Amino acid sequence: MQPRHTRSALALALLGLGWAGWACRSTPQEPPPPAGRWWKGNTHTHTLWSDGDGAPELVVDRYRERGYDFLVLSDHNLLSRGERWFPIDGADKRLPRARVDELRARFGDAAVEEREIDGQPRMRLKTLEELRARFEAPEKFLLIEGEEVTDSFKGKQVHINALNVADVIAPQKGDSLRAVLERNLAAIAEHGRANGRPVLAHVNHPNFVWSLTWQDLASLAHEHFFEVYNGHPEVHNDGDATRPGTEEMWDLANTLRLRELGLPPLLALASDDSHHYFGDGEKRSNSFRGWICVRSTALDTASLLAAMRAGEFYASTGVELADVRRTRERYVVDIATEPGVTYTTRFTGVLADGGERAIVLAETDADPAVYEPNGAELFVRATVISSLPQPNPAPGDPAQRAWCQPWVPPAR
Ligand SMILES: [Zn+2]
Ligand SMILES: [Zn+2]
Repeated sequence: MQPRHTRSALALALLGLGWAGWACRSTPQEPPPPAGRWWKGNTHTHTLWSDGDGAPELVVDRYRERGYDFLVLSDHNLLSRGERWFPIDGADKRLPRARVDELRARFGDAAVEEREIDGQPRMRLKTLEELRARFEAPEKFLLIEGEEVTDSFKGKQVHINALNVADVIAPQKGDSLRAVLERNLAAIAEHGRANGRPVLAHVNHPNFVWSLTWQDLASLAHEHFFEVYNGHPEVHNDGDATRPGTEEMWDLANTLRLRELGLPPLLALASDDSHHYFGDGEKRSNSFRGWICVRSTALDTASLLAAMRAGEFYASTGVELADVRRTRERYVVDIATEPGVTYTTRFTGVLADGGERAIVLAETDADPAVYEPNGAELFVRATVISSLPQPNPAPGDPAQRAWCQPWVPPAR
């Protein structure tokens, strides 16, 4: 697409620059290219500490070996801290003897501690502190402490990942579904303030047991991140015959937030929610299905979370992007193409005076893909769809994709 619009400097000076400076006014110049590089990470990972079947060191090792730059271990309502002796060959079959032997072979005999307690052989689980000492390397690999704050209301599941916590956060409960959502998000935000650290929360898998509606997502006031893709097989990312998928929910929620609620748009993550590290398949909750890439100048927790707050990240199930830029005049998606693969970029949005539903504003096979807003858009976002299928899909997973964040173009 070629530029279609020319704007006077005066007009530009009067315009707000969309969402990165939400509620801010910007200078008339086009901003410089964002600094930094992309860091790849998964923010939703389970281990033996709660209901995963992988020892923590095995899980961390696999992500690092796969080329991830950062990883959040996010077990249910606990942190990887303290002394915990996990049963070997226990009834739940999550740690058979053969897997302990594999850990010994991989990490050395000295790295695996066993003890018999009341006649039951057990292995001590590695703490996050031990994992950091073993795996972290400056600018190469980072572990962020996390928790999946796991709550519910009358069978509806409210799961929220809290990233960079200082201590465990208890589920807050509440007398309605919305209260449970908001009380947990408020508690996580308050935890960050009280501990003087950046904390970020994302609402997980809204369609898991059909727990959250798009109206629930629209109502989120204390935080604005959610999972548009989750690799667990039971989360219905794509909805069903009567209920919308997470992508449609995202647009519906953002339309309401921007039109009526005065809230910033929801930003979306993809994650694995991995539980199963032995045996792949559609019914398994495996690694490497969904992740985020965050652009920042340094690989440290504060930089990554700040970049996410600024919207400098995209979600992916396989498509890699070289650049995403939302300047004053255009939304540009530059794909890191692979030979022999074709890509379609879809710019989706809602018109300010249009209907409730998002429409495809433009679609292109070009790289970079460029969209120039005409002033009629309430918001615009971009999805890149690859010609490749996901190698180990969860049920209903279509081709590999990347989701870029919604953008509120400057008013015309
Ligand atoms: Zn969950
Ligand atoms: Zn989970």
